[in-house]
Amino acid sequence: CGIVGVIGNPQTKDILLHGLDKLEYRGYDSAGIFLADGKTNHLVKSKGKIQNLKDKLTEEINGTMGIGHTRWATHGVPSETNAHPHTSESGRFVLVHNGVIENFDELKTNFLAEDTFIGETDTEIAVHLVAYFAEKEGMTTKKAFRRALKEIKGSYAFALIDSEDSKTIYVAKNKSPLLIGLGEGFNVICSDAMAMLTQTDRFVEINDGELVFVHADGIQIEDQAGHEITREAFVTQLDA
Ligand code: GLU
Repeated sequence: CGIVGVIGNPQTKDILLHGLDKLEYRGYDSAGIFLADGKTNHLVKSKGKIQNLKDKLTEEINGTMGIGHTRWATHGVPSETNAHPHTSESGRFVLVHNGVIENFDELKTNFLAEDTFIGETDTEIAVHLVAYFAEKEGMTTKKAFRRALKEIKGSYAFALIDSEDSKTIYVAKNKSPLLIGLGEGFNVICSDAMAMLTQTDRFVEINDGELVFVHADGIQIEDQAGHEITREAFVTQLDA
């Protein structure tokens, strides 16, 4: 299972698909990507091989930002519906997740009793929870994401897109791997540097509990309390 993301690059689709191929070794049963170009959004998912996903991605489907996922099912059968990315009811929030949310049932009862879910994953609850804080409690996406993370127990690497904001990918991790890669005029996200070596050799580590806001021209890292953290990139010696 793995996560990839790109912001600020017209080749986003190809970079995501290449990245997913490179993450194949981690194992998966389905895959999906979300692409946006500031006007049009595309959510494409498929069960089975990454080739099945590629076959669905016609020429016209493209984007300058996006997230991609290979799933290794823990909650809900392997299927196109349960494949990531998952969306909020409104469709506004789009999320990929590696890991397991342990208290998903409790979160559902406490916050999301009125919601309708399309699949059976723990992940769908997480993206509905962000939407709950943003749409029902009126928080900014940054605050809603931070607030949702406070409630979520378990392991996760998350990459979240607010389709009303084409300038940010929201990222956080706890006990699941996730890295930021720094490109020239764009940035990337990946579970493993291997996935993005054709784009960059400069990566920034994320620690458990931190939130990262990834933009085309830079990144911001904050701790749980919202204090900004500065961290230098490291240069990997791995070969593409
Ligand atoms: N728990 C999530 C699911 O079953 C994520 C699994 C993964 O890490 O791929 O959909």
